[in-house]
Amino acid sequence: MSNLASRIQAIRERIRAAEQRGGRPPGSVTLLAVSKTQPAATIREAMTLGLTRFGENYLQEALDKLEALDDNPPEWHFIGPIQSNKTRLIAENFSWVHTVERPKIAQRLSAQRPLGLPPLNICLQVNISGEASKSGLSPDELPAMATQVAGLSRLRLRGLMAVPAPAQDFEAQRRPLARLRQLQEALIRDGLDLDTLSMGMSDDLEAAVHEGATLVRIGTAIFGPRPPKST
Ligand SMILES: *Cc1c(COP(=O)(O)O)cnc(C)c1O
Repeated sequence: MSNLASRIQAIRERIRAAEQRGGRPPGSVTLLAVSKTQPAATIREAMTLGLTRFGENYLQEALDKLEALDDNPPEWHFIGPIQSNKTRLIAENFSWVHTVERPKIAQRLSAQRPLGLPPLNICLQVNISGEASKSGLSPDELPAMATQVAGLSRLRLRGLMAVPAPAQDFEAQRRPLARLRQLQEALIRDGLDLDTLSMGMSDDLEAAVHEGATLVRIGTAIFGPRPPKST
């Protein structure tokens, strides 16, 4: 078996074991493969191994791969920071955006979503660990923003997303993830129809599934370590 095949099998087993331990129904957690820095050929190989959803962080890099895989496209998710002059290309080329945090960006994505495509699926990014350097809405800002995005006709608000501060042990990993789930539950109580909690990466997948993640975003554990980011 290839390295990629064995890593995909291992991550599927981790998800299955975490579902079982957390009392989650089997199959309730969706795997998003984070393919930033990986070439189109690797994504194609991962698709032959059964992966169907890929997340990209950098628009230009992503567009090159979208074009290379245009004959048989997977479901593309945008999971990187969004500049307002890039919204049109995101609205035209992706099925999901996980990193919406500003009203202006949401309005532009809705206005620019082509009419021939289904509404763009949206998660609002929450700065769940309260780090000054991190993107995301504060919990205080969230309800008003969620109501506003839910009212945009070409978007479909699906839920919340976060990238918590790194933590080593299971209990410390669980705390911010539990907070994100509670914020989502509060929005649902307020009447929003949300079904997606986008949380959990290679290092905190188990804690995220335990706390109710419905979609985990996994890069390193599938594709191996990435080259250091150039600055
Ligand atoms: C890179 C990235 C991931 C994947 O992280 P790994 O630790 O490599 O699994 C998930 N989510 C976001 C937003 C990312 O930028």
